[in-house]
Amino acid sequence: MTETSSVREIRINPIIPTESVLVATARNMRPKKAEQPVPRDGRAHVATCPFCTGNEHMTPPAIAAYPEHGDWHIRIVENLYPVLGDDHRYRNLNLGLQQTIDGYGRHEVIIDHDQHGIAVHEMAETHLVDLFAAYRTRMEQLYQSNEQLRYVLVFKNFGPAAGASIAHTHSQIIGMPIVPHNVQAEVNHSRAYYAKNHHCIFCSLIDEALTFEATIYDRESGAIQRRINVGQYVVERGRRFIAIKPFASRYEWEVHILPLAHDAEFLRVTRDDLSDLAQVLRRTMARLDAVIGGAQYNYFLHSLPHGNDNQDCGASYHWHLEICPRTTIPSGFELGSGLFVNTISPEDAAARLRAVDLATTPAPGTDVRTA
Ligand SMILES: [Zn+2]
Ligand SMILES: [Zn+2]
Ligand SMILES: [Zn+2]
Repeated sequence: MTETSSVREIRINPIIPTESVLVATARNMRPKKAEQPVPRDGRAHVATCPFCTGNEHMTPPAIAAYPEHGDWHIRIVENLYPVLGDDHRYRNLNLGLQQTIDGYGRHEVIIDHDQHGIAVHEMAETHLVDLFAAYRTRMEQLYQSNEQLRYVLVFKNFGPAAGASIAHTHSQIIGMPIVPHNVQAEVNHSRAYYAKNHHCIFCSLIDEALTFEATIYDRESGAIQRRINVGQYVVERGRRFIAIKPFASRYEWEVHILPLAHDAEFLRVTRDDLSDLAQVLRRTMARLDAVIGGAQYNYFLHSLPHGNDNQDCGASYHWHLEICPRTTIPSGFELGSGLFVNTISPEDAAARLRAVDLATTPAPGTDVRTA
């Protein structure tokens, strides 16, 4: 067990300074149980599941399937209960203070895998490459199909605590006529940082994470006892991607994955990039699974939005994947104050995730196609 440090401080999100997190590790802050593994529906096939093979008639027709012919491994369908729709023309209505933006857009479901309950860290790397390539292709098609779409959000809810209403592993893609507030805030603040420092703030964060160094001195003699040259916030590192525990993490086990080479747009990733991303993601998810067991989480892609007001942000914005495991439910304090409360210090959480020995954890192998 790693020694846990006691922290009680409000940390300002370096990317979005208007967002802050109260890191309070005091045990009595809230009734907090040790991370207890959540039982997961790991079945490969469920006869009544609309997303399982053989039940294709239970979903709207496929928009795309991979592979295109034969048995599909990934399938994209329209959402049966879309939160946004494009069955009418885009229009806005404004009446006094009741301003609305029409709920125009696209809402689709990506069935991530033909195996019902497979977890991301159990999927084959080649499958994850195909999945992220499918995200990219569909994002591109949606942006091209309609210039009114300002943002195409790709996200995944896994587990009931993360809002997944269907247990079968799936992602969602929503094309919307506005840029979500949190994405625009990241874009604006990183643009301001760039104007001042001529450097991308995300790249700066990566540099900082990679150069962290600690020296432990002997108390009496002052001699150097030990030098630690490990990124304190680095969870995983590949050739092209890095998984970082944010200094101001909103969620106890939140981890962000970023490309090491600067790029504002996810749309430009190559298959070669994706194979490294797949490795980093799979290893990160395996670490999360080993520490919190049956992780219920949301992940989502943040990439430069379309539209004229963001055109100048190619150098200042940096696309990334945010993984937010759900281990606690927001309290009235959080909702009332807008302050996130995190009861595990991000430094300790990163150390615990790094300490997982992936070689001894059960090898991911439930992807039957790789077996
Ligand atoms: Zn299923
Ligand atoms: Zn950058
Ligand atoms: Zn983000």
